[in-house]
Amino acid sequence: MHWRIERSSAPAAVSVPLLEALDLVKDYRTGSEVRRALDGVSLSVGPGRFLSVMGPSGSGKSTLLHLLGGLDRPTGGEVMLRRRALSALSDRELTEYRRQVGFVFQSFNLVPVLTVAENVALPLVIDGRRRAEVDRRVRDTVAAVGLEEQADALPSRLSGGEQQRTAIARALVTEPAVLLADEPTGNLDSATGEQLLSVLKAAQRDREQAIVVVTHDPNVAAAGDEVLHLRDGAVTGRIDLGCGGDGSPPAQRLAAWLGDGAG
Ligand code: ADP
Repeated sequence: MHWRIERSSAPAAVSVPLLEALDLVKDYRTGSEVRRALDGVSLSVGPGRFLSVMGPSGSGKSTLLHLLGGLDRPTGGEVMLRRRALSALSDRELTEYRRQVGFVFQSFNLVPVLTVAENVALPLVIDGRRRAEVDRRVRDTVAAVGLEEQADALPSRLSGGEQQRTAIARALVTEPAVLLADEPTGNLDSATGEQLLSVLKAAQRDREQAIVVVTHDPNVAAAGDEVLHLRDGAVTGRIDLGCGGDGSPPAQRLAAWLGDGAG
Protein backbone atom coordinates (compact mmCIF):
# COMPACT_ATOMS: atom_id res chain seq x y z
CA MET A 1 0.00 0.00 0.00
CA HIS A 2 1.14 3.53 -0.74
CA TRP A 3 1.13 6.01 2.10
CA ARG A 4 0.52 9.64 1.55
CA ILE A 5 3.68 11.44 2.56
CA GLU A 6 3.36 15.02 3.70
CA ARG A 7 6.48 16.94 2.91
CA SER A 8 7.98 19.14 5.53
CA SER A 9 8.03 22.86 4.88
CA ALA A 10 11.35 23.00 6.72
CA PRO A 11 14.24 24.34 4.63
CA ALA A 12 16.49 21.70 3.17
CA ALA A 13 19.70 23.12 4.58
CA VAL A 14 20.41 22.32 8.22
CA SER A 15 20.94 25.71 9.80
CA VAL A 16 21.90 25.24 13.45
CA PRO A 17 22.61 21.66 14.45
CA LEU A 18 20.50 20.68 17.44
CA LEU A 19 21.69 17.13 17.92
CA GLU A 20 25.02 15.89 16.59
CA ALA A 21 26.98 12.68 16.70
CA LEU A 22 30.68 12.98 15.98
CA ASP A 23 32.56 9.83 15.06
CA LEU A 24 30.65 7.67 17.55
CA VAL A 25 32.19 4.34 18.49
CA LYS A 26 30.57 1.79 20.78
CA ASP A 27 32.16 -1.48 21.89
CA TYR A 28 30.27 -4.06 23.92
CA ARG A 29 32.34 -6.40 26.07
CA THR A 30 31.10 -9.83 26.98
CA GLY A 31 33.79 -11.70 28.89
CA SER A 32 36.96 -11.44 26.80
CA GLU A 33 35.03 -10.73 23.59
CA VAL A 34 34.66 -7.21 22.26
CA ARG A 35 31.93 -6.49 19.77
CA ARG A 36 32.09 -3.15 17.92
CA ALA A 37 28.45 -2.10 17.50
CA LEU A 38 29.21 1.39 16.16
CA ASP A 39 32.31 2.23 14.19
CA GLY A 40 32.58 5.98 13.67
CA VAL A 41 29.07 7.29 13.03
CA SER A 42 28.51 11.00 12.49
CA LEU A 43 25.23 12.81 11.93
CA SER A 44 23.57 16.15 12.47
CA VAL A 45 19.90 16.97 12.98
CA GLY A 46 18.53 20.50 13.04
CA PRO A 47 15.34 21.71 14.75
CA GLY A 48 12.24 20.64 12.84
CA ARG A 49 14.19 18.02 10.88
CA PHE A 50 13.28 14.36 10.56
CA LEU A 51 16.11 11.85 10.14
CA SER A 52 15.40 8.20 9.41
CA VAL A 53 17.97 5.53 10.19
CA MET A 54 17.78 2.28 8.25
CA GLY A 55 19.95 -0.79 8.02
CA PRO A 56 19.82 -4.56 8.56
CA SER A 57 19.30 -6.11 11.95
CA GLY A 58 22.46 -5.87 14.05
CA SER A 59 23.83 -2.86 12.13
CA GLY A 60 23.85 -0.66 15.25
CA LYS A 61 20.62 1.35 14.90
CA SER A 62 19.34 0.84 18.46
CA THR A 63 22.80 1.39 19.88
CA LEU A 64 22.99 4.70 18.04
CA LEU A 65 19.57 5.76 19.39
CA HIS A 66 20.58 4.87 22.95
CA LEU A 67 23.74 6.93 22.70
CA LEU A 68 21.85 9.88 21.20
CA GLY A 69 19.40 9.69 24.08
CA GLY A 70 22.14 9.67 26.70
CA LEU A 71 21.00 6.23 27.92
CA ASP A 72 24.47 4.82 27.39
CA ARG A 73 27.94 6.30 26.96
CA PRO A 74 30.02 5.87 23.79
CA THR A 75 33.42 4.17 23.78
CA GLY A 76 34.66 6.96 21.52
CA GLY A 77 33.35 10.07 19.81
CA GLU A 78 30.80 12.52 21.09
CA VAL A 79 27.10 13.32 21.22
CA MET A 80 26.32 17.04 21.31
CA LEU A 81 23.09 18.88 22.00
CA ARG A 82 23.17 22.53 20.93
CA ARG A 83 26.94 22.17 20.58
CA ARG A 84 27.32 20.96 24.19
CA ALA A 85 29.12 17.65 24.61
CA LEU A 86 27.31 15.02 26.64
CA SER A 87 30.63 13.71 27.98
CA ALA A 88 31.15 17.06 29.73
CA LEU A 89 27.86 16.82 31.61
CA SER A 90 27.58 15.91 35.27
CA ASP A 91 25.16 13.13 36.28
CA ARG A 92 22.57 15.76 37.24
CA GLU A 93 23.00 17.52 33.88
CA LEU A 94 22.74 14.19 32.06
CA THR A 95 19.42 13.53 33.80
CA GLU A 96 18.33 16.99 32.67
CA TYR A 97 19.48 16.11 29.14
CA ARG A 98 17.36 12.95 29.12
CA ARG A 99 14.37 15.14 29.99
CA GLN A 100 14.93 17.06 26.77
CA VAL A 101 14.72 13.88 24.76
CA GLY A 102 11.49 11.98 24.16
CA PHE A 103 11.75 8.22 23.60
CA VAL A 104 9.29 6.01 21.77
CA PHE A 105 10.00 2.30 21.73
CA GLN A 106 8.47 -0.45 19.67
CA SER A 107 7.05 -2.05 22.80
CA PHE A 108 4.87 0.71 24.15
CA ASN A 109 5.96 0.41 27.80
CA LEU A 110 2.68 1.78 29.13
CA VAL A 111 1.77 1.30 32.80
CA PRO A 112 -1.21 -1.09 32.65
CA VAL A 113 -2.97 0.18 35.80
CA LEU A 114 -2.90 3.82 34.69
CA THR A 115 -5.30 5.41 32.20
CA VAL A 116 -4.16 7.01 28.95
CA ALA A 117 -4.18 10.47 30.57
CA GLU A 118 -2.30 9.20 33.64
CA ASN A 119 0.32 7.47 31.49
CA VAL A 120 0.84 10.67 29.52
CA ALA A 121 1.01 12.71 32.74
CA LEU A 122 3.69 10.47 34.26
CA PRO A 123 6.84 12.32 33.09
CA LEU A 124 5.39 15.63 34.28
CA VAL A 125 4.37 14.21 37.67
CA ILE A 126 7.85 12.70 38.10
CA ASP A 127 9.21 16.13 37.21
CA GLY A 128 7.14 17.66 40.04
CA ARG A 129 5.10 19.97 37.78
CA ARG A 130 2.05 21.72 39.24
CA ARG A 131 -1.33 20.06 38.87
CA ALA A 132 -2.85 22.77 36.66
CA GLU A 133 0.12 22.64 34.28
CA VAL A 134 0.02 18.83 34.17
CA ASP A 135 -3.72 18.86 33.38
CA ARG A 136 -3.34 21.45 30.64
CA ARG A 137 -0.37 19.80 28.95
CA VAL A 138 -1.89 16.33 29.14
CA ARG A 139 -5.17 17.58 27.66
CA ASP A 140 -3.37 19.35 24.78
CA THR A 141 -1.06 16.43 24.02
CA VAL A 142 -3.76 13.76 24.21
CA ALA A 143 -5.79 15.89 21.79
CA ALA A 144 -2.78 16.31 19.48
CA VAL A 145 -2.58 12.53 19.04
CA GLY A 146 -6.36 12.23 18.66
CA LEU A 147 -7.08 10.29 21.84
CA GLU A 148 -9.47 12.62 23.70
CA GLU A 149 -12.19 9.98 23.77
CA GLN A 150 -9.86 7.34 25.18
CA ALA A 151 -8.27 9.59 27.82
CA ASP A 152 -9.83 7.68 30.72
CA ALA A 153 -9.36 4.20 29.26
CA LEU A 154 -6.81 1.67 30.49
CA PRO A 155 -4.19 0.58 27.91
CA SER A 156 -5.68 -2.93 27.78
CA ARG A 157 -8.84 -1.43 26.24
CA LEU A 158 -6.90 0.25 23.41
CA SER A 159 -5.87 -0.94 19.96
CA GLY A 160 -2.16 -1.27 19.17
CA GLY A 161 -2.22 2.04 17.32
CA GLU A 162 -3.90 3.82 20.21
CA GLN A 163 -1.36 2.39 22.63
CA GLN A 164 1.47 3.59 20.42
CA ARG A 165 -0.13 7.05 20.13
CA THR A 166 -0.34 7.11 23.95
CA ALA A 167 3.38 6.29 24.10
CA ILE A 168 4.09 9.11 21.64
CA ALA A 169 1.95 11.53 23.66
CA ARG A 170 3.93 10.56 26.76
CA ALA A 171 7.17 11.27 24.88
CA LEU A 172 5.87 14.62 23.57
CA VAL A 173 4.22 15.94 26.72
CA THR A 174 7.46 17.35 28.12
CA GLU A 175 7.98 19.19 24.82
CA PRO A 176 11.38 17.62 24.25
CA ALA A 177 13.74 19.22 21.77
CA VAL A 178 14.36 15.82 20.21
CA LEU A 179 12.13 12.82 19.71
CA LEU A 180 13.87 9.46 19.28
CA ALA A 181 11.78 6.54 18.07
CA ASP A 182 12.85 2.89 17.69
CA GLU A 183 10.68 1.08 15.12
CA PRO A 184 7.57 3.05 16.17
CA THR A 185 5.37 1.35 13.58
CA GLY A 186 6.91 -2.11 14.03
CA ASN A 187 3.82 -3.62 15.68
CA LEU A 188 1.19 -1.74 13.71
CA ASP A 189 -0.80 -2.33 10.54
CA SER A 190 -0.15 0.09 7.69
CA ALA A 191 -3.24 2.30 8.20
CA THR A 192 -2.34 2.76 11.87
CA GLY A 193 1.26 3.34 10.90
CA GLU A 194 0.12 6.13 8.63
CA GLN A 195 -1.80 7.78 11.49
CA LEU A 196 1.28 7.58 13.59
CA LEU A 197 3.39 9.20 10.91
CA SER A 198 0.99 12.14 10.79
CA VAL A 199 1.44 12.59 14.54
CA LEU A 200 5.22 12.63 14.12
CA LYS A 201 5.03 15.00 11.15
CA ALA A 202 2.77 17.34 13.15
CA ALA A 203 5.27 17.39 16.02
CA GLN A 204 8.02 18.19 13.54
CA ARG A 205 6.01 20.93 11.86
CA ASP A 206 4.17 22.55 14.78
CA ARG A 207 6.72 22.18 17.55
CA GLU A 208 9.93 22.36 15.51
CA GLN A 209 10.85 19.06 17.10
CA ALA A 210 13.85 17.20 15.74
CA ILE A 211 12.96 13.57 15.08
CA VAL A 212 15.22 10.56 14.68
CA VAL A 213 13.42 7.37 13.72
CA VAL A 214 14.97 3.93 13.40
CA THR A 215 12.91 1.90 10.97
CA HIS A 216 12.89 -1.03 8.60
CA ASP A 217 9.86 0.42 6.87
CA PRO A 218 10.60 2.44 3.69
CA ASN A 219 7.20 4.17 4.04
CA VAL A 220 8.22 5.56 7.41
CA ALA A 221 11.74 6.41 6.27
CA ALA A 222 10.38 8.27 3.23
CA ALA A 223 8.55 10.68 5.55
CA GLY A 224 11.94 11.93 6.74
CA ASP A 225 14.02 14.76 5.30
CA GLU A 226 17.10 12.59 5.25
CA VAL A 227 17.83 8.87 5.47
CA LEU A 228 20.99 7.36 6.88
CA HIS A 229 21.88 3.76 6.08
CA LEU A 230 23.97 1.72 8.52
CA ARG A 231 25.78 -1.54 8.00
CA ASP A 232 28.13 -3.19 10.50
CA GLY A 233 28.07 -0.11 12.69
CA ALA A 234 29.10 2.32 9.96
CA VAL A 235 27.22 4.75 7.73
CA THR A 236 27.19 3.28 4.24
CA GLY A 237 25.04 5.96 2.65
CA ARG A 238 22.90 9.06 3.14
CA ILE A 239 20.16 10.50 0.99
CA ASP A 240 18.56 13.92 1.35
CA LEU A 241 14.91 13.47 0.37
CA GLY A 242 14.09 17.13 0.87
CA CYS A 243 16.05 18.55 -2.02
CA GLY A 244 17.89 17.64 -5.17
CA GLY A 245 17.11 14.49 -7.06
CA ASP A 246 15.15 14.31 -10.28
CA GLY A 247 11.87 15.65 -8.88
CA SER A 248 10.33 12.19 -8.41
CA PRO A 249 8.41 11.51 -5.15
CA PRO A 250 10.62 10.87 -2.10
CA ALA A 251 9.24 7.34 -1.61
CA GLN A 252 10.23 6.49 -5.18
CA ARG A 253 13.71 8.00 -4.83
CA LEU A 254 14.22 6.17 -1.56
CA ALA A 255 13.12 2.85 -3.10
CA ALA A 256 15.55 3.33 -6.00
CA TRP A 257 18.36 4.24 -3.60
CA LEU A 258 17.70 1.22 -1.39
CA GLY A 259 17.46 -0.97 -4.49
CA ASP A 260 20.91 0.26 -5.56
CA GLY A 261 22.39 -0.79 -2.22
CA ALA A 262 21.78 2.53 -0.38
CA GLY A 263 25.21 3.80 -1.15
P1 ADP B 1 20.14 -3.00 15.40
O1 ADP B 1 19.34 -2.06 16.25
O2 ADP B 1 20.55 -2.40 14.08
O3 ADP B 1 19.49 -4.34 15.23
P2 ADP B 1 21.91 -3.12 17.69
O4 ADP B 1 22.35 -1.74 17.95
O5 ADP B 1 20.84 -3.69 18.55
O6 ADP B 1 21.53 -3.28 16.14
O7 ADP B 1 23.17 -4.09 17.82
C1 ADP B 1 24.40 -3.87 17.12
C2 ADP B 1 25.39 -4.95 17.51
O8 ADP B 1 25.75 -4.82 18.88
C3 ADP B 1 24.82 -6.36 17.37
O9 ADP B 1 25.86 -7.20 16.95
C4 ADP B 1 24.40 -6.72 18.77
O10 ADP B 1 24.47 -8.11 18.97
C5 ADP B 1 25.43 -5.99 19.61
N1 ADP B 1 24.84 -5.56 20.91
C6 ADP B 1 23.84 -4.72 21.09
N2 ADP B 1 23.59 -4.51 22.39
C7 ADP B 1 24.49 -5.28 23.07
C8 ADP B 1 24.79 -5.52 24.46
N3 ADP B 1 24.09 -4.91 25.41
N4 ADP B 1 25.80 -6.36 24.76
C9 ADP B 1 26.52 -6.97 23.80
N5 ADP B 1 26.31 -6.79 22.47
C10 ADP B 1 25.32 -5.95 22.11
